[in-house]
Amino acid sequence: MAKILDGNEIAGKIKEGLNLQIKKLKEKEIFPSLTAIQVGENPGAKIYARSQKRSCERMGINYRLSQFKENVSLKELENFIEELNEDKRVNGIIIQMPLPPHLDAFTLQKKIDPLKDVEGVSPANMGMIVYGKPFLAPCTAMAVMEIIKSTGMRLYGKEAVMVGHSDIVGKPLTLLLLKEFVTVSVCHIATGERGRVPDYVKGAEILIVAVGKANLIKGEWVRENALVIDVGINRVGGKIVGDVEFEKAKEKASYITPVPGGVGPVTTAILLRNTIEATKLQNKNKL
Ligand code: NAD
Repeated sequence: MAKILDGNEIAGKIKEGLNLQIKKLKEKEIFPSLTAIQVGENPGAKIYARSQKRSCERMGINYRLSQFKENVSLKELENFIEELNEDKRVNGIIIQMPLPPHLDAFTLQKKIDPLKDVEGVSPANMGMIVYGKPFLAPCTAMAVMEIIKSTGMRLYGKEAVMVGHSDIVGKPLTLLLLKEFVTVSVCHIATGERGRVPDYVKGAEILIVAVGKANLIKGEWVRENALVIDVGINRVGGKIVGDVEFEKAKEKASYITPVPGGVGPVTTAILLRNTIEATKLQNKNKL
């Protein structure tokens, strides 16, 4: 029976470390702040923004939500990001997803000053991961690494399977694993269409799933004693579940993350950590 990896416990430890750093910054009259940009009325994004605000305020980080109408133009948002880049009171900038179809996320992410890019989505910060020097890296990918490391498992030479190849989770995580000399196979929609996902999953000592399809990964596919990290968030009959058949997978794995209460809280903690990291970098001359 697997040990359940408690995301709240891991997040708590990360936040504990941040408390002291925030105290030291405030002693030097530096007050970390995060600005989120939200476009339109997406209910999911609103819930996420509310929880970001709560988490920031609990830590003593100033949080500002800048809301724009659904029909805002790309140019208007680009100008606003430029203003935030220039504003010394703003340490971190995040763009809430999803954006309406007329707004290209990449164009906006490219505009964020890499030093204020606390979600690690700008091309410059993504590039640093390729070179094995993660700087401000995507929060969920970093959260998964943090969870894996919390087990104390020796990563060198381990065989991992990453299901999902999104820009913010699957791709950066693959590179972070490579940095630790993990052998990584990446599965995606085309692997699924060929019916080959089970074959890969069966060999995984470390299995990470970030797809967004409830119970896509069957418990019986999971390798004996595998470490299973479920990033997926799916709403099924009023309940939130992951991408892995939790109850069955738990019988075979050595470690497994629950949904909710696994990757989610650690991701938020990493966002806070990135905000403090960014604040320190921007105030290097005062520290
Ligand atoms: P995405 O939605 O951008 O892409 C989905 C990925 O799954 C793609 O790589 C696609 O090719 C792959 N895929 C789709 N169907 C497949 C199949 N049948 N077999 C194999 N691969 C398949 O991905 P994302 O933005 O990384 O989000 C994935 C999930 O993770 C979502 O449920 C999202 O809500 C969740 N998520 C959670 C957190 C968190 O903090 N817990 C953060 C980010 C995303």
